[in-house]
Amino acid sequence: MKLPSPEQRKHVMEVVHPLDSESVTLRPCPPWCTDGRHFADDEVIYADDGYHHYGAVIEVPTSYEFLGMPGDPETIVRAVLKSWTHPLDAEPGPTIIELNLGTAAARTDIYAEVTPAEARAVARALLDLADTAEPEEPAASALKPAEQSLPSDRTQPAPTAGRPGWANA
Ligand SMILES: [Zn+2]
Repeated sequence: MKLPSPEQRKHVMEVVHPLDSESVTLRPCPPWCTDGRHFADDEVIYADDGYHHYGAVIEVPTSYEFLGMPGDPETIVRAVLKSWTHPLDAEPGPTIIELNLGTAAARTDIYAEVTPAEARAVARALLDLADTAEPEEPAASALKPAEQSLPSDRTQPAPTAGRPGWANA
């Protein structure tokens, strides 16, 4: 990703020109915002408009088809920080997380907006479900009790997100 550095962005004040009011200088972005500009030059803007700050998008490819799209391409789950800012000259609003379901070609309108606490709850639910769907060591070691006496760091595979301690990462 080619992003302007925070220093570059902070020195470029974005001024917008609503049709129905004086020009407005947007407030500084949250530190995670990667948008160089929030409005296009030819965008029609009104004084009562708002806008989003967006962070870098994290894309998680999945194995299953996105139904209803031509050719049923694979689903991409996208996670991104965002903040709705309104009116134009307001400080950035609360930072939330958007989970978007789409394809490699496009985001869609199928998404959930959650608070940071809710995002943690969703993450915990997913990790719990993943552990249930795909149990780790206990079942295997139960079949081979002799190996339980070995140092655990020699018998364990590489750490994964489902291991105890993930919450501290
Ligand atoms: Zn921004």
